[in-house]
Amino acid sequence: MNFIEEIVEKDLQEKKNDGRIQTRFPPEPNGYLHIGHVKAICMDFGIAERFGGVCNLRFDDTNPVKEDVEYVDSIMRDIAWLGFHWGNVYYASDYFQQLYDLAIRFIKEGKAYVDEQTAEQIAEQKGTPTEPGQNSPYRDRPVEENLRLFQAMQNGEVPDGKMVLRAKIDMANPNMHFRDPIMYRIITTHPHHRTGRRWNVYPMYDFAHGQSDYFEGVTHSICTLEFVVHRPLYDWFIDQFVPQNEYRPHQYEFNRLNITYTVMSKRKMLQLVKEGLVAGWDDPRMPTVCGLRRRGYTAEAIRAFIDKIGYTKVEGMIDLGLLEHTVRECLKEKAPRVCAIFDPVRLILTNWPENRQEDITAENIDGMPELGTRRMPFGKELWIERQDFQEEGDKNFYRLSPGGREVRLKSAYIVQATGCEKDSEGRITTVYATCDLDSKSGTEGGNRKTKATINWVECNSALDAEVRLYDRLFAVENPSADERDFRELLNPDSLKVTTAKVESSLRNVQMQDHFQFLKQGYFVVDDDSAPGRLVFNRTASLKDNWQKKA
Ligand code: ATP
Ligand code: MG
Repeated sequence: MNFIEEIVEKDLQEKKNDGRIQTRFPPEPNGYLHIGHVKAICMDFGIAERFGGVCNLRFDDTNPVKEDVEYVDSIMRDIAWLGFHWGNVYYASDYFQQLYDLAIRFIKEGKAYVDEQTAEQIAEQKGTPTEPGQNSPYRDRPVEENLRLFQAMQNGEVPDGKMVLRAKIDMANPNMHFRDPIMYRIITTHPHHRTGRRWNVYPMYDFAHGQSDYFEGVTHSICTLEFVVHRPLYDWFIDQFVPQNEYRPHQYEFNRLNITYTVMSKRKMLQLVKEGLVAGWDDPRMPTVCGLRRRGYTAEAIRAFIDKIGYTKVEGMIDLGLLEHTVRECLKEKAPRVCAIFDPVRLILTNWPENRQEDITAENIDGMPELGTRRMPFGKELWIERQDFQEEGDKNFYRLSPGGREVRLKSAYIVQATGCEKDSEGRITTVYATCDLDSKSGTEGGNRKTKATINWVECNSALDAEVRLYDRLFAVENPSADERDFRELLNPDSLKVTTAKVESSLRNVQMQDHFQFLKQGYFVVDDDSAPGRLVFNRTASLKDNWQKKA
């Protein structure tokens, strides 16, 4: 159990909140979910699942400038894809009236005032962690005036930025969040995605978040460590209107997920999308849930990764290699193996009878016959990888070379190279070989061992595929710590588009099907595929450097 699960178990034993367990996942709908959010999702939904509670989805939609239904929809889609189930769907905007009424109550009790200073002036008066701040000249205006002005703010009589409502707490508090935090601001420029033009004032996140938890009956409000310093303020707001011994939510914090060679901020991701530096939120290089899905990462693998890294109270950076390793481990078990030839050269079997077509039966995963077999057409002309032939191979080259060794064609026959043909530039166009017609795999003559096995695809039946080879989005390990702008740190080789000759068994693939292209890596069928058009994304290469390091 992680440390938060231990707390929950203890609370259950002590019958806190009458044994009720209620969590929530509270995204702001201002971008797509990324793998950092998945860490929070696994915690919030995981606690509810494990302890028989409920986890609700709450959209923290307090800023109409940046929020949109597109994001709401994508967030729900991604959570469902990850395999989690929410109880209710709530919106902070459902509480705008309650929060507004609460603000009025604060004003009446002398705990809030309307400030007319500019944002810059307010910032200047904030002080520093070691020096107290200064009181605003508007801090002691009468209750009646505050009520009238706040009403005028909501009525649309005051331009954006001209006034804010601030809590009247303590400008000398060592916790900077207590130095008269802003509760409400005016936003008239953008309609809200749910409440339209009904409101001209919007609560700040800090004034909405803890109360939303309270209104819903959240017992364990779990979030990331940057909110530790906000917690006393959330508690203070609640203390102002909830009697001491009554129910209130409790906040617990864990460390954020950061991963090398990527960024984990919606703001930066939005910039990449808007400036066309990636193809969209679901670009397979993005750390978003939809990007990872398109890259071929399975929900199971992503969740297994979150399990591996665990939850602590110390910030850190996780090696991207661990995520890639986890994905390989998962796909190794279930991705059918197929042949794809990336740099094809024609191999002609000179002694193969003209027009003889044959079907080879190959296991989908070697040594796992229970996962089925497939048929591969075989014939006189085959595509092989250019690098599997050397005109002048030395004794350390085990693959095809004239006068060289015998080589097994994967799951099929043994062949021996005899020569090659070149074009006017000296580039090899065709390789010639003889085939041992009695050496077919699985037959009596097929047991003979060779030093090397190579992949092939029969020429007449081969399909052409577009293949997108993805790599890390950034060229540096920690783009956020770099003094250069993060957009200058993109890996110029993060995408190479190429083509391959693939075996005909791939004719009827479905979107999101996973394969291992033998000796090449794990690939997934991309959404751009269509009848007669095959597009594959590379999920991961086969080379795993994680285990070596670990
Ligand atoms: P970003 O910084 O990318 O904009 P955010 O924290 O503003 O993210 P929210 O929509 O407010 O995004 O986040 C919803 C929940 O997800 C919060 O509880 C937050 O703590 C959690 N979360 C966000 N990023 C991470 C992360 N990198 N690791 C773990 N949890 C995260
Ligand atoms: Mg946030």
